Parts: sequence; C-alpha cells; structure tokens
Amino acid sequence: MSISSPTNILNNPIEYLHGVTTFKGDLLKKELGIFTFKDLLEHYPFRHIDKTKLDKITGLSPYNEYAQVAGKITQLETLGEGRGKRLTARLKDETGEIELVWFRGINWIQKIIEVGQEYLVFGKLNFFMGKPQIAHPEIENYTVQKADGKYYLEPVYPSTEKLKAKGLNGRAIGKLTYALLQILTEKDLSENLPESIISQYKFVTHFNAYRQIHYPATDRHYLHAVRRLKFEELFFAQLRLGLIKSTRHRHSKGLIFGQVGHFFNTFFNQYLPFELTNAQKKVLKEIRVDTGSGKQMNRLLQGDVGSGKTIVALMMMLIAADNNFQSVLMAPTEILAQQHFNTITALLKNMPVCVKMLTGSSKGKHRKEVLKLCEEGTLTILIGTHAVIEEKVVFKNLGFAIIDEQHKFGVAQRAQLWKKNTIPPHVLVMTATPIPRTLALTAYGDLDYSVIDELPPGRQPINTVHRSESARPQVMDFVKQEITKGRQVYIVYPLIEESSKMDYENLLKGYEEVKSFFPEPKYWISMVHGKQTAVQKETNMQRFVKGDTQIMVSTTVIEVGVNVPNASVMVIESAEKFGLSQLHQLRGRVGRGAEKSFCILLTGPKTSNDARERLKIMVATNDGFKIAEKDLEIRGPGEIEGTKQSGLLNFKLANIVQDRIILEAARKAAEHILESDPDMNTDVNLPVINYLKQQRGKTAWSKIS
Ligand code: ADP
Ligand code: MG
Repeated sequence: MSISSPTNILNNPIEYLHGVTTFKGDLLKKELGIFTFKDLLEHYPFRHIDKTKLDKITGLSPYNEYAQVAGKITQLETLGEGRGKRLTARLKDETGEIELVWFRGINWIQKIIEVGQEYLVFGKLNFFMGKPQIAHPEIENYTVQKADGKYYLEPVYPSTEKLKAKGLNGRAIGKLTYALLQILTEKDLSENLPESIISQYKFVTHFNAYRQIHYPATDRHYLHAVRRLKFEELFFAQLRLGLIKSTRHRHSKGLIFGQVGHFFNTFFNQYLPFELTNAQKKVLKEIRVDTGSGKQMNRLLQGDVGSGKTIVALMMMLIAADNNFQSVLMAPTEILAQQHFNTITALLKNMPVCVKMLTGSSKGKHRKEVLKLCEEGTLTILIGTHAVIEEKVVFKNLGFAIIDEQHKFGVAQRAQLWKKNTIPPHVLVMTATPIPRTLALTAYGDLDYSVIDELPPGRQPINTVHRSESARPQVMDFVKQEITKGRQVYIVYPLIEESSKMDYENLLKGYEEVKSFFPEPKYWISMVHGKQTAVQKETNMQRFVKGDTQIMVSTTVIEVGVNVPNASVMVIESAEKFGLSQLHQLRGRVGRGAEKSFCILLTGPKTSNDARERLKIMVATNDGFKIAEKDLEIRGPGEIEGTKQSGLLNFKLANIVQDRIILEAARKAAEHILESDPDMNTDVNLPVINYLKQQRGKTAWSKIS
C-alpha cells in the first residue's frame, strides 16, 4: 500500500481562493489557523441567521434571549466621556423602537452606520428601564432581498476583533465559504464512509454534509449535516487509535514472560498479606495473557482509590523477574515514589530481590551506585519519579514498565519508556482516580483496558460532611476526640499554583492555627509542602507514618497514593477550591484501615454554585467511577486531567459528553471495521482507506503501509 497523498484541491493554500488577498490570507492564518481550503471548509458557523424570521419590536419581552429586528436608524449619538463613553442608536420598525449601544469600537461603528438607512440587527436582548436594548449587536445593511433560492439560512462564523477591524467579520467569512463551496465538486469531497454505515445511520453524503452545515436548506438539513460530521470526527479518531493498537497487536514484537516462577510463587504462598480480590485476580490474568503473547503490551489499568493497584503491579514485576527481566515503577512525586519504595521493600524484605529508588534528589555516590546496578542487571526493581526515564538510566534488560497515576505524565514520556530496551518493555499505565469509561476508551484508544471494579473487603464508606468556616471550633473538637481514640488526622490546604506565595502563606497561617488548637507536647504536628527538600518531606512524612505525630498539615503534595492506615480523618480546607477528582483523591487517604473514617469539607464564605454542586456529590457518594462521570458532566472533557495533553479530545464539532450516543456508534463502527477487515484492504472499505490516505501527516497510516 502506498502512502502517496493525491493532490487534492482541499490542500490548496487559502490565498488561491477568489477574494482572499495575501493580506487577508495572512490574517486568516494568524487569527484563525486557516491555511488551506480544507481549514476554511472546517471553519464551521456557530449559528445561522434566518432572514425570513424577524421579531417585531413591540413583541419583544424579557423572555426573548435574543432578538433579530430590521428597521431604520433614526438617531445616533455619543454620550459620556472617557471610560464611560458610549454610542447609542435608535432603530425603528413599523411597531416600535429599540436602543442599540456600543462601548467599544465606536469610531468604526460611526463610520458604517448612517441615520435614515435600514439595517438588520441581531444580538442579546436586555431590558433597561423597561425598554428593549441590544449592546454590541451584529449589524448589516438590510436590503429586502428574499432568499436567493439556494438557501435562506445565512451562516455566521467565529471571527476575531482583528479580523473584524479588517472587514472580515463573522458574516464576511461567509462570503469566502460560499465561494469555496461553489468550486468544490462531489469528486473533491468524495464519500469516506462505507455504504453499510451510511445506510445504517441514514447519513447524508460527505459532500452534502459539508454543504449543508454551511448553507442548510432547512434546520433539519443542518442537524443531519452536523450529525454526520460529528460521526466522522469520532469515527476516524477511533479508527486511527484502533489501527495503532491492532497493528501493534498483530505486528509488534514483545518480550515473552513464559513462566511463573520462584519469585512470584514464593511471594504468593508466603508473603502476600491478604487474599486478592476477584477483580485483582482478573486483572492479573489479563496482564499475564498479554505478556505471554509475544506482543508488546500497552494497557491502561483503572481502579478506584484504594482498590489495590500497587499489589497487582508488584506481582507483575515478580513475574518479570521470574523471566529474568528488570522492572521500573514510575510515580509522579518523590513522596509517592518513596512510599512505593517503602511498601514494596517491606513486602519483599525476606526475598532476595534488589529494589532501589531513583529520584531527582538522588545524588552523588548513591545515584552512581543505582545506575551501575541497573546497567549490569543486578537490580531487579527500580522505583522512582520521572528521573528514571532520563537517558543516563540504562537497563540491562528492562521488561516491564509501570506508570502510576498517569495523569501527571505526558504521552511523550510513555513513548520514552519504549526506547529503554531493544524490544520495548510491556507498559502498564495506572490511573490515580477513575476517568469515565467513555473518556478512557476515547483518549486511550491505543491502549488495552483493564479495570479493578471492586474494593478489598471490609472497607467502610467514608463519612463525608460539608461544614462552613463558622463550624471550625466544632470540627476541631471532633478532631480532638478522634486523636484521643488513637487516630491520626490530615489537614489539607489548597495549592493552586506550585509557587504561589499566597497559598504558601495560607498554609503557614493554617499551621499556626492548628497549633493553637493542638498545643505541644500533648499533640505533635507534621507539616509537608512543596517548598521543602526531599529530606524534610520524607522526615515529616515518616514521623506521621510511624505515629510520632498525630496531625499532618500539608498541601496537596499528599494527594496521590499516600497510605497511612491509622489516619481516619481528612479535613480539607477551602474545599470549594478543589476539583472533584482531587477531592476524591484526598478523601482516599483515609478509610484505609479498619476504623470508621471521616472527611470534612470546610468552605469559606465565597462558595459558588458549581462548588456547592461538587461538594454535594462528594457527600452523596464514595464511588470514584460515579464521581468521574459527574465530573465529566460538570466540567466537560477538556478539563479532565490527563486528557489535555492527549489532544485527542479536541474535536471541532463533537463533544464527547453531549454526543455520547454518536460516540458509541462511531466506536462500534470503527471496531467492526478493525475486526472484519484488519488489513483494511477490502473494496467496501475503500472510501475509508482513501480518506485516511488523504489525511496527510496523520499518525497511524504510515505505520500500516
Ligand atoms: P490504589 O489502587 O489506590 O493504589 P493501593 O494499592 O495503595 O490502592 O491499596 C490500598 C490499600 O489496600 C493498601 O493498604 C493495600 O495494602 C490494601 N489492599 C490491596 N489489596 C488488598 C486486598 N485484596 N485485600 C485487603 N487489602 C488490600
Ligand atoms: Mg496507588
């Protein structure tokens, strides 16, 4: 199969279009990223103006959010001075009068509007002293033209202040798309979906979808076009990721972990401190099948906070060791790396397995020693931060790589791990908090997917309450009672920016306040924050882990992974400032032992409705998967951690929350093609293949050919 890209008119530079001067072309590139015909074609209108539907001014009421009126400008005047300066106009139709007002761009508007002329005006409607008013309306000359027969819904496009100032406003861009659609033929936009999909979903053709999204004949035509183009976006995104995955499944060479041997069996029979849950067993099995298959594994492991992902990771590393391979476990922070190191060395203390830690603060002799052990192969398990993927770190035979708490790592770092061995190691990516399945499958469609959907037995739900600042004394009394019972407590302050001075000061203030409630020597307090050295952090952490201190005051550095089973109260200060997944992560620090645990969300006076909604969800459920779904609904996919870097969720039209039904359909369709035609060479799929080939520079295809 060749990867040549047929010359296609869609790849023409935008200046080739009639009406686009070099000057305008440069502006379009700079302001809107429109370089080619195709870019312009995919610059979709955000609304259409139905010129046949005018509002009568007297009929307008506060129930109308927007108004479209036509009439004569009867008056134009500037009022006020300096910053209060504004331009007002009166527009009269046969029923009444409306005021238009501008606070910016006054000179420009004055130039284009003339008293006595007729205009068509659209904008958000306000009522000011009982009278209708539109601020910064869209305005254009109104010539009583009927629709020209081809369309009557006129598109309005996103534009920018700069473009508007040069005459390329949202409607002027319409002139360009109109010109473009005049010259494009059905051949230029040939069908890109198989016949079966088109008939199953009753799609309009690819060509018509583009025409109708810009210039629909009716509202219904528009909706059909949008539905088809959203499907295309989602379908081709899934197909590309799926192709990467299936190519790897079929062609990649992977290390074979053929046997389960002494290390695994000894650990399993003698040192495993509890029985694995069924979900853990199931996941171990899935990973074992992969790692024995001769193909390279790339798997995403999801599990709620506390579901026991670490032990799964450890047992897989032992199987790697049984097959003479080294493993690496990479965590997002020093504290977490240290914690994993402590947990794992404790579990393996009676076994001859060489486990070392490497982080940014490993220096000098220690660092040299670790690097040496790693290179000569004496070291079996390396635990660390992203320091482990630096080039200086050379393995003798790295077979298994685990990325814990994926959202802190970029996609590029994942790929860097592959290069650590001639045959790339198997890679297991573990998420910190669940992300919704839909999102996981979309964003990580190139990975296989496992889930631990069950918590270890005996876990009690964490009792979560929301209290306002004024209840602080009662909250502290409660904390005191718990400490008296022998429990330990976290008090967490928000850290919005890594280096923000204010956050740091808040933390110190909080620390002093906590001290006044809990004076030494009756109580001892640890404090951990990002400005401390690794040694300071570790010392404070260890005092808390050992029970020398009863209270841990910290920023979110303890957010992920930290495990102190005796801690039973989590107090979150300024809880309104945290996102849902962060709150859930923090809450997951308690409820790890047998004791009844509590999470207290303290909020200040300025708590928005959105924040209240988040806190309500936290109080209502302990289920991380449910919380993830809600988070997705509230914030939308763009804001979910871990998805920003992927870029895969930035669709032009589709929104994976609102368009879930289309997303499901698109995924099924892509899956079906990959299963029924893995080599992508049957005639029925020719439209799809040709389209993929046209998409120059897009990833998957070059690997397939
Ligand atoms: P996470 O999935 O959040 O990383 P961890 O791996 O830290 O969770 O496990 C949370 C706690 O649960 C740890 O203290 C661990 O020892 C314990 N644990 C894990 N699996 C089991 C099990 N099957 N039975 C009982 N306790 C378990
Ligand atoms: Mg963990």
